Amino acid sequence: MDLYEYQARDLFAAYDVPVLGGVVASTPEEARAAAEQLGGGLKVVKAQVKTGGRGKAGGVKLAHSPEEVAEKAAAILGMDIKGHTVHRVLIAEGADIAEEYYFSILLDRAERRYLAMASVEGGMEIEQLAVERPEALAKIAVDPIVGIDEAKAEEIVDAAGFKPEIREQVKHTILKLWDVYAGEDATLVEVNPLVLTSEGKIIALDGKVTLDDNASFRHENHAELVDIQAEDPLELKAKQQNLNYVKVDGEVGIIGNGAGLVMSTLDVVALAGEPYGVKPANFLDIGGGASAEVMAAGLDVILGDPQVKSVFVNVFGGITACDEVARGIVAALEILGESATKPLVVRLDGNNVEEGRAILAEANHPLVTLMDTMDGAAARAAELAAK
Ligand code: GDP
Ligand code: MN
Repeated sequence: MDLYEYQARDLFAAYDVPVLGGVVASTPEEARAAAEQLGGGLKVVKAQVKTGGRGKAGGVKLAHSPEEVAEKAAAILGMDIKGHTVHRVLIAEGADIAEEYYFSILLDRAERRYLAMASVEGGMEIEQLAVERPEALAKIAVDPIVGIDEAKAEEIVDAAGFKPEIREQVKHTILKLWDVYAGEDATLVEVNPLVLTSEGKIIALDGKVTLDDNASFRHENHAELVDIQAEDPLELKAKQQNLNYVKVDGEVGIIGNGAGLVMSTLDVVALAGEPYGVKPANFLDIGGGASAEVMAAGLDVILGDPQVKSVFVNVFGGITACDEVARGIVAALEILGESATKPLVVRLDGNNVEEGRAILAEANHPLVTLMDTMDGAAARAAELAAK
């Protein structure tokens, strides 16, 4: 689970990472009150959306009075940043920035350890820095058993080349950020920028934290961090029906039984869709023993995605034989009635395949195309999505 900046900042504060005061607001009036509560001086109004580059998109603005804070909040609230609507802003105490740095800790799955990255060249997007000036980005492996101790923090500070007068402060901050990472079972803690203020203080000015959902059972407080409002409504609906559904950006809806089959279906559709510029729209595994109701629920979720132009149902009959799956599809289309409007390409194979195909052929539903092979079906679904 990704956290909002204000949630990351709350965690930072709880672990003694130096941050500036901040209050969340969802209306210009609340923003003004927040500014008054924080007291005088420069304020920053920051869009709270789970995507980066808010600054460039106009979602981070400075303000010098409560009135100006309210004005800037009014301008930012409702803004669309990379497809995320801004419902809340963080009103934060402004920093007088002398220098901007970068620091992160992340899970390096391939190497089975953690990785700390630091740079004294902040201000640039980190992806860009990594490509254009890789030598300016120190990457230090972190042993998961040892973690970041004094010696490791020193190694990071040295490798990045922080200047002598701030070394101790940066080291201290890195150790605290490690406490956040380990203490909360995070898979990412990123501070961009970590700043040096004109008064010589190191402050985490922005925070991005991803928590490991697999560890949520040992962190009761993590449940409160879940933002149901911001969850994709279709993903929420699927979750409520116990469907294993993940939405991605594409046009061909995919339903299959078994994670392996669904994953290979994604690959085949991605390949078949290339010439048409279409991609898979989701991952939906209805599981081994899927009934007609489950098929209907799955189709309902996928057809509810306005981006979906066609659906590929790829089922290998096993525990649930193909004739049952076919009956499920026919029943699902009956249940959905007029709300089913997009073409369905169905490929069945495995147990009782002939019976299954016969059922679909007999139903002769105008939206359903029956195909013999997975490749053929993927190509057909891609072609239909492109129309
Ligand atoms: P991001 O663009 O989504 O990463 O949002 P950030 O929180 O990193 O803010 C973007 C930029 O706004 C920072 O790199 C700073 O240059 C600027 N900024 C953010 N907070 C402050 C502040 O308190 N004072 C000043 N002067 N600039 C700030
Ligand atoms: Mn940032």
